[in-house]
Amino acid sequence: MTLTATRRAQALKLLEERGLDAMLITAPENRRYLSGFTGSNGWLFLSAEKVALVTDGRYWAQVESQCPDLELVRFRSNEDLRLSRRLACWLSEQGWSGSLGFEGSDLTVTDFRQAREDLGEGAGPVRAMESISGLVEEIRQIKSPDEVEAVRRAARVADEAWRAALPSFREGVTEADFCAELEYRLAKCGARKPSFDTIVASGPNGAYPHAGVTDRAIQPGELVTVDFGALVEGYCSDITRTVWLGHLDERSLEILEVVRRAHRTGMETIRPGLRGCEVDQVAREIIARAGYGPAFSHSLGHGVGLAVHEGPGLRPESKTLLEAGMVVTVEPGIYVPGIGGCRVEDLVVLTGSGAESLSRSPYQEPGQVHPLEAWD
Ligand code: ZN
Ligand code: ZN
Repeated sequence: MTLTATRRAQALKLLEERGLDAMLITAPENRRYLSGFTGSNGWLFLSAEKVALVTDGRYWAQVESQCPDLELVRFRSNEDLRLSRRLACWLSEQGWSGSLGFEGSDLTVTDFRQAREDLGEGAGPVRAMESISGLVEEIRQIKSPDEVEAVRRAARVADEAWRAALPSFREGVTEADFCAELEYRLAKCGARKPSFDTIVASGPNGAYPHAGVTDRAIQPGELVTVDFGALVEGYCSDITRTVWLGHLDERSLEILEVVRRAHRTGMETIRPGLRGCEVDQVAREIIARAGYGPAFSHSLGHGVGLAVHEGPGLRPESKTLLEAGMVVTVEPGIYVPGIGGCRVEDLVVLTGSGAESLSRSPYQEPGQVHPLEAWD
């Protein structure tokens, strides 16, 4: 059985437990995961008897090459108008009828209403439609060894790009310029593109956890949070380093120390058998005890794979039991409006015995006046 066929069998098993006959996969990462197809448009129909991909002429040759074990349903936009009409037609030709799961978190309301009409819920081939959001994502949480290697490569590219970009981290460089340098290095080191919009947040901008970049010039003595990642062979990495030029004041040093301690404790704690909330809790307590509880305004971490944000979550309400093969971030942060912020993030893979960090970039230590000193 091919890798994608094994995954489809897993998905069908979960589908059967929900009492549904088939599923319609529209989310790009899930479509790729279950079929191997990397194009940007197409609906994957999956039942115990039939697997088909409905897509337009831009991708027919690609589907035949990437997914030889799938039936290609050729969609012609000027004749068929909509993917759902072509799918309805094909299902009728096949004599298929049954209940259909769809991805409610991916389909727009417009597409869903149209699909329901075309597929003929109640009258046509589809008797009922029910959302199965999260079903494929649940399987994706546990990575195969090949997937772990892909994330490891993406993490290595991010580390190499970071090292290569650091000589440009100088007084007066703007957040936007440093971001451009880092993204150029990501591409040169092997990333197809950044795995998300790079964040370079300097001084007071660091108080916004997802700040993006501005034309602000970086000054000595302020914390600068840089959050970035590489997309390599479809898989993402995600890492944050907080760096500075020169010397930090007492307040910044305190924030840095608390975040580093919470991060270290999270990294030492995380292992299979714990729940997501338990790992979040140990790091969150350190920040709360230091008096910065409300300033840690997001979850401790998230899964990373084909998507940069996926399951499992490390957050106060996450009951998910951590298992070997999961790849997650550990990223505590403190954000103080008007002052600034700090976040440290590493990517780890859970193993049989614990966890291994996939991020290798060193952390700038207090006393070091430039982040490159951490590499010596
Ligand atoms: Zn990040
Ligand atoms: Zn992250």
